[in-house]
Amino acid sequence: MRLILLGPPGAGKGTQAQRLVRKHGIVQLSTGDMLRAAVAAGTPVGLQAKDLMAAGKLVPDEVVVAIIADRIGEPDARRGFILDGFPRTVAQAEALETILAERGLKLDAVVELKVDEDILLRRIENRVAEMTARGETLRADDNPAVLKDRLAAYRAQTAPLSAHYAGKGMLKTVDGMAPIEEVAAAIDRVLGRGSSAPARRRPAGRKPVRKRPAARNAAAARKAVGKKSAAKKAGRKTAKKAAKKGRKKAVSAAKRTKTAVKRRKAGRKNGRKASSRRRLTKRR
Ligand code: AMP
Repeated sequence: MRLILLGPPGAGKGTQAQRLVRKHGIVQLSTGDMLRAAVAAGTPVGLQAKDLMAAGKLVPDEVVVAIIADRIGEPDARRGFILDGFPRTVAQAEALETILAERGLKLDAVVELKVDEDILLRRIENRVAEMTARGETLRADDNPAVLKDRLAAYRAQTAPLSAHYAGKGMLKTVDGMAPIEEVAAAIDRVLGRGSSAPARRRPAGRKPVRKRPAARNAAAARKAVGKKSAAKKAGRKTAKKAAKKGRKKAVSAAKRTKTAVKRRKAGRKNGRKASSRRRLTKRR
């Protein structure tokens, strides 16, 4: 599976990406994380990106495109990936299309987390206040003033990507303001469907039972077995009837034989009686 997660900074892309990574066994490719690592390592890319990032501005397209082109080619990305924070401009999106086409790869979907920027800003302000109170270190760009610039950069340069991917029929939009678990469930739903249209609600009442092929086969098998046993039963019935008939025939045959034997015996007796009568009459 190859996905893009779109959404302004603070929308929860990272959280959802980590969950999808666990669920689908794919890797999360975050250009923000890669750039921060480059800054920390003091590489030429890091040196180029450092001030732009601290100011909430975008790093040049060619820099991030080169990073992503290398990363997608690594073995762990072969099973699939989630792009988090890339592309951020239409030029980056077009470069990505070329990179993927050259490698015979395709994107499965682009999921956009829709958020309310005012609520987002208040959330960041609260988080920054809490982290400062706990004495935790903050990211250089993790403060309300820089967040405003990052949101402005998002609106101007990244938001047009929604129309770009909607035009390709790949955009799936999810309400990013809902609780994390609900957002996760909504993402799973849109990824499970073929289109970006909102899920149609089923009218209240009984759930339609849609049989899967295996279930259909099982039902057909059950039906066939039913027919077979019916045939067996019918067969058994006929056999029973025949046996009964046979038994009746045998009984009546036996009866007939008995009667014949009786008659024969009676005939012999009568014959004997008659001859003795004849003898007696002769003597007389
Ligand atoms: P993020 O962690 O995705 O919010 O990114 C932090 C910062 O890294 C951004 O404010 C930009 O300065 C820079 N950055 C990350 N990804 C990109 C990108 N695709 N294009 C340009 N700049 C980026």
